[in-house]
Amino acid sequence: MRLVQAVARIAALCLLLTACGAEAPPQTRSFTALDTLCTVKLYGDAPQELLQTAVDTVNTYERLWSRTVADSDVARLNAAGGEAVVLATDTSALLQTARTWSARTDGAFDVTIAPYKALWEAATEAPPSAQALAEAGARVGATHLQQDPWRLTNGAAVDLGAIAKGAIADKVCDALKAAGCTSALIDLGGNMTALGAKPDGTPFHIAIADPRDPSAMLLTVEAADVTLSTSGSYERYYELGGVRYSHILDPQTGRSVDNDLLSVTVIAARGIDADALSTACFVMGFERARAFLDTLDGVEAVFVRTDGTAVLTDGVRTV
Ligand code: AMP
Ligand code: MG
Repeated sequence: MRLVQAVARIAALCLLLTACGAEAPPQTRSFTALDTLCTVKLYGDAPQELLQTAVDTVNTYERLWSRTVADSDVARLNAAGGEAVVLATDTSALLQTARTWSARTDGAFDVTIAPYKALWEAATEAPPSAQALAEAGARVGATHLQQDPWRLTNGAAVDLGAIAKGAIADKVCDALKAAGCTSALIDLGGNMTALGAKPDGTPFHIAIADPRDPSAMLLTVEAADVTLSTSGSYERYYELGGVRYSHILDPQTGRSVDNDLLSVTVIAARGIDADALSTACFVMGFERARAFLDTLDGVEAVFVRTDGTAVLTDGVRTV
């Protein structure tokens, strides 16, 4: 398995563009966390210590929600062999939101895809076989994640890769706001959150990368008090036998998503929702995703179709 990551390059592009037009240079900290490059920028007169507050917040929630940190809540849940596990209140809230989006997206978003993901990560030359996927499928499904008390049935396992970055961005925002910050940009591996607007009250400008050439920008949108979460095949993929397979998996089949979309950027007030929804929309494909988003209030999107055309929902303001 080779998981290729272009996120850092895209994130750098996003930040370069968002910096344009800001009045005074922001206080900036870049750091590695969540298996990616993260950058926090504080605008206005926020105290410099808040950069460390942001880093600490990311690290705290990574320790709680990473599968690979041995005593994280997620690792304990996955290792409990079906027994009930006591989880932190924040973890409980995150899993409840994950279950809600699983139900509302008819399973397009599903944090129990872990058994499928394990097969893709173990593959060396070719995608997992139909038989292996069918066997793993018996352990996949949101109903295997049970609440009150939290426990996993049927040998299921949880992976929060499609929702944790957005959820953690919300936590960073909360911490910064509580400390008096009113203007900041938080970039967690290309998952971009605008806390407030620029100090002069105008919206931030956030670039969306061109999935066909992620070092180039496709378009730039206005953003204030929102998160932009992008899901796409170009960000991370499995390369097997010279073929690239998206890291986003269809929970119905376990197969890597290959449809009429190159990427979806979802814009929502809360990062947790933007992140879950961008993954779900990518799985759904263009028509189904657009119809689904029409049923939600306050959620906008930029779809990039395989022919390279971008389709924007009505509320997206481009620059
Ligand atoms: P994102 O980049 O937010 O779309 O999340 C993709 C990551 O979430 C993958 O690397 C997997 O860890 C996980 N994942 C893949 N497919 C799904 C899915 N259909 N639902 C939930 N999580 C998924
Ligand atoms: Mg996501």
